[in-house]
Amino acid sequence: MSRPISRSTVETIVRDVLRRQGSLADDPSRHVEMVFDSDLALALKQEMVDVGRKLWARQYVDGNGGNISCRLTDEWVLCTPTLTSKGDLRTEDICLVDFDGRQLAGVRRRSSEILLHLAIMKAVPAARAVLHCHPPHATAFALVGQVPPVAMLAEHEVFIGPVALVPYETPGTQACADAVVPVAAHHNTILMANHGVVTWADSLTHAEWFVEVMDTTCRVLILAAQLGVPPKEIPPAIVGGLLEIKRTMGLPDARFGDNQPPAPAGVRDEQQVRLITDLVMKTLAAAER
Ligand SMILES: [Zn+2]
Repeated sequence: MSRPISRSTVETIVRDVLRRQGSLADDPSRHVEMVFDSDLALALKQEMVDVGRKLWARQYVDGNGGNISCRLTDEWVLCTPTLTSKGDLRTEDICLVDFDGRQLAGVRRRSSEILLHLAIMKAVPAARAVLHCHPPHATAFALVGQVPPVAMLAEHEVFIGPVALVPYETPGTQACADAVVPVAAHHNTILMANHGVVTWADSLTHAEWFVEVMDTTCRVLILAAQLGVPPKEIPPAIVGGLLEIKRTMGLPDARFGDNQPPAPAGVRDEQQVRLITDLVMKTLAAAER
């Protein structure tokens, strides 16, 4: 595979082109706005709106609860605003922050829980998107301080596997963000005690799938517990086969230990190509005017 182009290289090229067109005037804020308004950013904002509606429709978010984020570049992240129902999100509500949580663009104020998202993205380069919500069945497990057992449901084995549980910390604080860092690399799905769930994935849509798988698993386990018969485990040989499938998909699993499969690089590369193409096309269009 070819070497990935660094964002700073691209930025240098784009700045050079813009300067030659006389349209940049050394104004970094203009560069932020161009990237924030790029076609790639708009596509990701629309995906955030769509995922927000799915979370609300499935009753995974309550009131203004839950938050969503997506890497836009190696330095900047799109995130949902504070005090907004995820069922009412609009693309124009989305904010842009840097990895210190400083807001760079967007008319609404960024979610206070962005620190949690950024902590995961900084700890796990493969985390392109992070999603936090309060799905009731999974949150019930978080309330009693239990994680769902493994080897129960095939989808859960492949997409999630062992779930981590981290101690309660006040939402929006750095302590809440710091609590997930030690477990994030080996767990794409983390229960936060007395609070909810956070998932990460190579795309926002996939992070939403993981929340659905997680809450369904917890719901089925709660239902099975009412039948008065202990649930039966998937035989170990079959679990081994499921883990091999998981490895080929580049998904993390605590059972892999330090031998985690390499994450597929496709999404990041594709995003860079789209962003560069967008900026070049805009620059050319501006030059023709
Ligand atoms: Zn929350």
